[in-house]
Amino acid sequence: MLKSFKKISFKIPKKFSAWHIIIAFGFFILLQMYLMNPGVRDITYSEFKKMVKEGNVLECHISHMTIRGKLREMARGSTKNAAFVTTRVEDPDLVKDLESMGVRYAGHYENPWLRTFFFSWVMPLLILFVIWRFVFKRFGPASSIMTFGKSKGRLYAQEDLNVTFDDVAGIDEAKEELQEIIEFLKTPEKFRALGGKIPKGVLLVGAPGTGKTLLAKAVAGEAGVPFFNMSGSEFVEMFVGVGAARVRDLFNQADQKAPCIIFIDELDALGKARGANPMGGHDEREQTLNQLLVEMDGFDSNKGVIIMGATNRPEMLDSALLRPGRFDRQVVVDRPDLHGREAILKVHVKDVKLEKEINLHSVAAMTPGFVGADLANLVNEAALLAARRNKKAVGMPEFEEAIDRLMAGLEKKKRLMNKKEKEIVAHHESGHALVACSVPHADPVRKISMIPRGIGALGYTLQKPTEDRYLMTKAELLDRIAILLGGRVAEEVIFNEISTGAQNDLEKATEIAKLMVKEYGMSEKMGLVTFEQGDRPLFLSGGFAAGKEYSEETAREIDLEIKKIIDESFCRVKALLIEKKDILQGMAKKLMEDEVIEGEDLKKLLEELHKSNGKNVSATQAS
Ligand code: ADP
Ligand code: ZN
Repeated sequence: MLKSFKKISFKIPKKFSAWHIIIAFGFFILLQMYLMNPGVRDITYSEFKKMVKEGNVLECHISHMTIRGKLREMARGSTKNAAFVTTRVEDPDLVKDLESMGVRYAGHYENPWLRTFFFSWVMPLLILFVIWRFVFKRFGPASSIMTFGKSKGRLYAQEDLNVTFDDVAGIDEAKEELQEIIEFLKTPEKFRALGGKIPKGVLLVGAPGTGKTLLAKAVAGEAGVPFFNMSGSEFVEMFVGVGAARVRDLFNQADQKAPCIIFIDELDALGKARGANPMGGHDEREQTLNQLLVEMDGFDSNKGVIIMGATNRPEMLDSALLRPGRFDRQVVVDRPDLHGREAILKVHVKDVKLEKEINLHSVAAMTPGFVGADLANLVNEAALLAARRNKKAVGMPEFEEAIDRLMAGLEKKKRLMNKKEKEIVAHHESGHALVACSVPHADPVRKISMIPRGIGALGYTLQKPTEDRYLMTKAELLDRIAILLGGRVAEEVIFNEISTGAQNDLEKATEIAKLMVKEYGMSEKMGLVTFEQGDRPLFLSGGFAAGKEYSEETAREIDLEIKKIIDESFCRVKALLIEKKDILQGMAKKLMEDEVIEGEDLKKLLEELHKSNGKNVSATQAS
């Protein structure tokens, strides 16, 4: 993530360490000693006694701990007076000796108040303060003490971002969706006059590094409005109430600067579903979230403040955040496909000297799964390698080596699929698509993709419904189950093993089968009976245990019927895919090359594959 917005923090604490205090203290003591006793000779008690006896001591002041005074000194032939100090020793004869030598002497009462005060109050407090600072630095941002509640966004409402849509590449769909927001920020009056309603909050959803922050900045840059940048985790401080105060402060500032954009990165750190606190209390995060909701409801979007949030875990968000009037518009920022990656590379090589024969398309082809941040990193890495090799321009070898390095790192971090995983995903998705093209009652396939979309899914197959459906026949439902099973069966047919990736498919297939048996009365054995009672509220049905109005035996039969539907579908799909194994493999191969196959291309591909496999199976379904 781009972190150009540094934390504002109170400057002194950073330079304020225990060492500074100790040094200052030592300096202070030396200074004091010097000022109070300039040129004082420190002598031992025995020396002092000797001098008294020799008659060299002129006068002395005897206090509790010390004896100070003047003595006569012989230096280079002449005598001169010098001050001295010695530590007092218990000596009953001292007064006698002084009297006998005729030395002027006086007792002194030294007031220990200042010293006591310093050592028993000032010093301990100073030490405590130092420790306190130290601990704070560990736990939270240094600023937490001095800038309570002042949002860190404050001074950094950026006016000239210098980021435009030209800097953002490869995510054209997201850009298009944000176009309207830019129009609105540019001329809010126009929209207001028309009475149009503009969204208050836009949620950018996508994997880390796909360019969400960049996109939000580009929107501000394009519209020429100030940009407030905050991270969700920054709101949540260790003091209760600070986060909420920050939110309030941020919205106040934004209000003054409208039209503007507030960007909240890592919204999930702030907006995790509430009620997860086992103590049942309102914790800090919850308070902050509530304040955010209050502020979002409170202001009028027609004023021109747009809140953009970013998250890679939308499913974690509190549903209250997604309600109308809040983050009700979601923009998916996908991982870039082949063309997208090429476009992003083009943006980032602008300031880099490249050798002539460099082919960015082939670089893009070598980097499946890379997101924008990875590609920016790649260009940088390649340039560094070229510099290390004393080359004048970056060439293909540098790119290749940089890719190898980054790949290894990303695979380790599980952000990239390895070769085997890619093969499995390609066959899995091809399996879904091939079944969808082969069964009679399926919606046409619009797109197969190996680029992970959202979180969790490794690839996806999109079907386009031909019309809105309110009723579905049994045959249609069975086909739908078959398509869902297609992915897993394909893995089994090709690799003779199954992965964990199909769990969601199986869940959905089972769900449909369950509905068929329990609600739609589509099972011959169970007959035309509904076993589910719709959405009756819990308290009416009498608590958790209720809701089942049939016996254990019936429940068993229902389970068996569900299993039978799934098993039969499974056999059907398996027979189909074994028969079309060659076509399946051809599709998977093409998918691995291109990463994405659109509906039209799929139709052509299937026709070709059918021809080359010499089988006369019609491919007309894939329209
Ligand atoms: P996110 O907020 O989604 O984690 P960022 O916006 O912080 O990602 O992206 C980090 C950097 O990666 C950006 O500053 C930019 O240099 C680069 N980058 C990411 N996506 C793109 C893109 N689509 N086009 C150009 N550069 C990108
Ligand atoms: Zn699947």
